[in-house]
Formats: sequence, C-alpha cells, structure tokens
Amino acid sequence: MSIIAIDGPVGSGKSTVARKLAKKAGFAYLDTGAMYRAIGWKAYITKINLTNEELDRLCAGTQLDMDLENEHLKVMIDGKDVSAEIRTPEMSRMASVVSAVASVRIHLVRMQREVGQSWAKRYGGVVIEGRDIGTVVFPDTPFKFYLDADIKERGKRRWQELQNKGINVSLDETISEVIKRDEKDQGREIDPLKKADDAMLVDTTGLSIEEVVDMILTKIRSTQ
Ligand code: C5P
Repeated sequence: MSIIAIDGPVGSGKSTVARKLAKKAGFAYLDTGAMYRAIGWKAYITKINLTNEELDRLCAGTQLDMDLENEHLKVMIDGKDVSAEIRTPEMSRMASVVSAVASVRIHLVRMQREVGQSWAKRYGGVVIEGRDIGTVVFPDTPFKFYLDADIKERGKRRWQELQNKGINVSLDETISEVIKRDEKDQGREIDPLKKADDAMLVDTTGLSIEEVVDMILTKIRSTQ
C-alpha cells in the first residue's frame, strides 16, 4: 500500500501530474487543495468572520465529500456539488486565507489522513497532492516529490487553466496573484509550503506531463 506525496507551489504541474500518475498506477487521487477551497467557499457564502473559533465551528458542522469520476474530482459540501465554483481566483484567495488558520488545518489534516489511508487500502495506493503532504500529513511515506518550475511558466500554466474555464484575466495579473499566493503559503506560521528534506525535487520547467509522470514512476519503482 503506497502513499505518494506530491507538493509544490501554484502551477508547478502537481495536479495534472498527480492525476495522471494515479491513473497510470491504478491508484486513487486526493487533491487536498480542493478541500481548503471548499471550506473557503463555505466561509465565503455564509459570510462568517474568518477567526479560528468561527472556522472551527464551520469545519465541525460541514459534511465534505470527495469522489473521483473519470479522472475528475467531485467535491461536495453538505451535499452540494461545488467542484466548479471552488476553482475561481476568488476561491484561490479564500483557500489561501482559511488554510493559514489553525482550526481549519487541524480538521482537514485529520480528514486527509483518514481518507488517504482508507483509499490507499482500497486501491493499493493513493496519490495525494498539496503543500504539506510530505512534511505534515504523511511525513513517514518513502514516496515524496516536490514539484517546481520557473515563475513565468507557472504563471502561464495557471493563466491557461483559467482561460480554459472561461475566466478572463491577464497573464501579468495571474503571475502576480501566483507570486502573492506562494509567498503567503510559504510564509505562514502553520505547516508552510516547503520541500521535505527527503523529497525528490522535480523541476518541471520545459518538461511534458508524461516526462514528469514517468520520472516519478521510475523513482517509485526503484524505491519499492
Ligand atoms: O492546490 P490549490 O491551488 O487548489 O490550493 C489552494 C490553496 O489551499 C493553496 O494556495 C494553499 O493555501 C492551500 N493548501 C494548503 N495545504 C494543502 C493544499 C492546499 O494550505 N495541503
């Protein structure tokens, strides 16, 4: 039973790589960013104050479900499908804000461990992507990867993603949003984004998805 941790900043390629890798290996796929986005979305529509206490209450009273359908992760909050709504730039900012709050991390890290372990058992393995999977959520897994790429390429990938969803923003605006979010994720006190000492660093600049997936698979096989 393998737990594969994939961490990295915005646009490093981790979501696409993690999904493809999971498919190729026959493993489950867990997008932990989607969980922070979902809590951010609920906090936004219920207009609560973003304090530790109010977010603690919100998390405790929320039913969060994730289901993988044809390579696409379906995210449900209290029975409502929010998969598309959580992908806007506004929800990226909300996710980044709520993810820096201790109570939210306590709830979601606990859930990620439970779901991760149960899916790994059921499917023989799980690929989990996020910011702190190798450092905090599953620090003992031998399979850790930290993806990164140069900022221009990361900004462009994120911009392309938004364009594909029909969200119109300029490339410059997207690059500065990416820089801001990374700084916030790297600079927060609790569980900041950083490479685990024992994670393999993969610079995805100029590499195709397939090349990165194969590189990771080769490393996993040689570690097993
Ligand atoms: O990966 P994605 O861009 O969807 O993540 C949204 C936000 O959720 C990140 O910018 C980060 O603030 C937060 N996050 C986190 N820890 C994770 C995954 C995501 O703090 N494991």
